Amino acid sequence: MVIAIDGPAGAGKSTVARAVAAALGFTYLDTGAMYRCVALAELRGAEHPERAEISLGERVLLDGGDVTEAIRTPEVSERASQVAARPEVRRAMQERQRALLSDGDWVAEGRDIGTVVCPGAELKVFLTADDRERARRRAEQIGADIEEVLADQRVRDARDREREDSPLVAAGDAIEVDTTGLAIDAVVGRIGELAQSVRSA
Ligand code: C5P
Repeated sequence: MVIAIDGPAGAGKSTVARAVAAALGFTYLDTGAMYRCVALAELRGAEHPERAEISLGERVLLDGGDVTEAIRTPEVSERASQVAARPEVRRAMQERQRALLSDGDWVAEGRDIGTVVCPGAELKVFLTADDRERARRRAEQIGADIEEVLADQRVRDARDREREDSPLVAAGDAIEVDTTGLAIDAVVGRIGELAQSVRSA
């Protein structure tokens, strides 16, 4: 079974997806980490960064080296948003993601899981939150200035929403959850309930 959790940065996807996966005993797939690895490979000079070897788990490995922290810098965030608009990069990542999701129980988080990577996912959730709230959460996480985070976030959001190839949009059959002002536990509980009802249907 696949639970797809899509939405813009800072909507709470990672925290929610991890917690739902842990609660249900599913495996968590952070597809954003894959685009971040491609971005880092390119920043390090790779000619075909989409061919890099990427391993996700407790630690994130890029061509065998631990990049768990290195892929979270603002420079990598910006480059990830750029490389993610390139069709050859998307094709390569989507192919790897589909191969993983074809077997077992997963909670997969990203921008295009419910629309493109896994349109047959048994449960699709589209998480949102208002701009300022998302920026505030991110700023708190990384210890940065909220106005700067907000400005960068707007650029990356627009790029995700306006790109030709698999833009960020809710799937027609996704359940939209606005997390503004909601406690994460409440969101996790709600998605857990939805998953149980899909499972027992
Ligand atoms: O989710 P995260 O912020 O780590 O993702 C990094 C970047 O990768 C995003 O800014 C987005 O442009 C891209 N991305 C994507 N499709 C996904 C996951 C992430 O385009 N499924």
